[in-house]
Amino acid sequence: MNREQSGVKVLALTFGELTTVLQQRYGKGAYHAAALYREIFKRGSISLKHLPEFSRSQAFARQLERDLELPACRIVAQEEKGVLKFASALSDGGCIESVIISAPGRTTLCLSSQVGCRMGCRFCATGEMGFVRNLEPEEIVWQLFAARFLLGRGIDNIVFMGMGEPLDNFEAVLQAMHVLNDQRGFNVAYSHMTLSTCGHADGIRRLGALHLPQLRLAVSLNAANDALRSRLMPINTRYPLIRLKEELQEFPLGRKGVLFMEYVLLRGVNDSRAHALDAVRYLEGLPVRVNVIPYNGGAASAYEPPSREHVHRFCQWLGEEGIFVSLRRSRGGSIRAGCGQLGASLAASGCSVEDDGCCIRTED
Ligand code: SF4
Repeated sequence: MNREQSGVKVLALTFGELTTVLQQRYGKGAYHAAALYREIFKRGSISLKHLPEFSRSQAFARQLERDLELPACRIVAQEEKGVLKFASALSDGGCIESVIISAPGRTTLCLSSQVGCRMGCRFCATGEMGFVRNLEPEEIVWQLFAARFLLGRGIDNIVFMGMGEPLDNFEAVLQAMHVLNDQRGFNVAYSHMTLSTCGHADGIRRLGALHLPQLRLAVSLNAANDALRSRLMPINTRYPLIRLKEELQEFPLGRKGVLFMEYVLLRGVNDSRAHALDAVRYLEGLPVRVNVIPYNGGAASAYEPPSREHVHRFCQWLGEEGIFVSLRRSRGGSIRAGCGQLGASLAASGCSVEDDGCCIRTED
């Protein structure tokens, strides 16, 4: 490999793209690409020399092992009753957090798409961090790799609800989804992926134009009048509710034909009957399911969690008006793994994953 040539970022490549890279760089083809892809994505290993496909090309195996580049090499994990949060140290010193949520019959991985976030939602610890940088596709895919092979968790569903606004890092998230979906690799169906946005209307339009089969779209609504929503979520000044609704009406829905609307309930802020009725009016004509999420409490947030009784009342108000509503149990609060809490521990520890000990290395 010459000096200018970067490593082979295998987690950023679909099988077809990896085949092309091996052809162009080493004069090899699909035979070796298939072996490498299988080892990485099915077994979590980058040890190639022992493989039968490389038995007659040991020099190539050694060269490829040297050239392969994984984006992170240390993680730290914390667990609270079925919720496991892990932080990954990135090569430039940045850190991201990801969360594994286990429930009977399914395990979900919540992925980050950016270090920090520029959207500045007022109730969100990641928003408080500000924007640091976009993640590369391999750093997004890395999070599933780490969950599966380093932590030993099988993953059924992926949700882009971690740090960052995924539609603000459109190209990288799209490429990561293609890799995650690759049948020779992790083989995660689009129907098992949910992309959550704070209401990035241009991004929703771009995503809709791709007609990705069965990808699930979730929108963080949190208020259905412009004055309040702009106060909670600055994106609303750029894409007000009416513009957002236009894009949602046009968005091609998958087989189940449902949009997911997230409503983080903040005590005394967006939790009255009038707020519920605002939401009902706004959602009229949209095939939606509303997920009500009681606020967890963020890093230095001025907001407070609602009482249990009030949460149930709010759900009832929506339900009485014919909205299909689900109450999301808040989990992982004590390890700051809940909705709106990611990044709070990183900010507190100066973005270090080594201070907590418990390093898990990818190398043997
Ligand atoms: S809620 Fe999402 S979009 Fe808003 S600041 Fe937090 S990470 Fe960014």
